[in-house]
Amino acid sequence: MNSGVVENLINELTRLPGIGRKTAQRLSFFIMGMPEQEAVSIANAIIEIKKKAGFCRQCFNITESELCPICTNPRRDRSIICVVEEPSNVIVIENTKSYNGLYHVLLGALSPIDGITPERLKINELINRVREGGISEVIIATNPNTKGETTAQYLAGALKPLGTKISRIAYGLPIGGDIEFADEVTLSKSLEGRREL
Ligand SMILES: [Zn+2]
Repeated sequence: MNSGVVENLINELTRLPGIGRKTAQRLSFFIMGMPEQEAVSIANAIIEIKKKAGFCRQCFNITESELCPICTNPRRDRSIICVVEEPSNVIVIENTKSYNGLYHVLLGALSPIDGITPERLKINELINRVREGGISEVIIATNPNTKGETTAQYLAGALKPLGTKISRIAYGLPIGGDIEFADEVTLSKSLEGRREL
């Protein structure tokens, strides 16, 4: 039997994605064995991110100011928007160093069965950005799985009438996968080989 505080930490950790009860238990015991200062520093980092970080007003990437450093960077090509599902996807694409446009983070992917309808994502915000003009291409880089494909099809339909070129990243990416786990070379190639929708 676990004591109250241990049980509490295990329950809290299971809220995180990919953390089942077994892993939560293992992490809890690991944290218990850590020097106090290290454990406190993990706790503080969590508090800090909630206090200081928010979503960029324009692209919904994570930022500590109103606009993220990519949106405010004058050297970025403001006529291209790459649409991704999660802020973590921005980091992987940035790591390829082969993309110099702006981003738009949807904060999820369409999944009607789970109640994730277009209104729940930052899709209207994307349409408004394109509608404002000055965008020559929208690259859809949602994940190559069912939800990501559904989202890509929906976006293509919604953006087509606005007359902007719409492309989808190519597959050297494993189908059914997540761009998060693609290596930089593969991801860079899939951006280069994007096809128009
Ligand atoms: Zn931004």
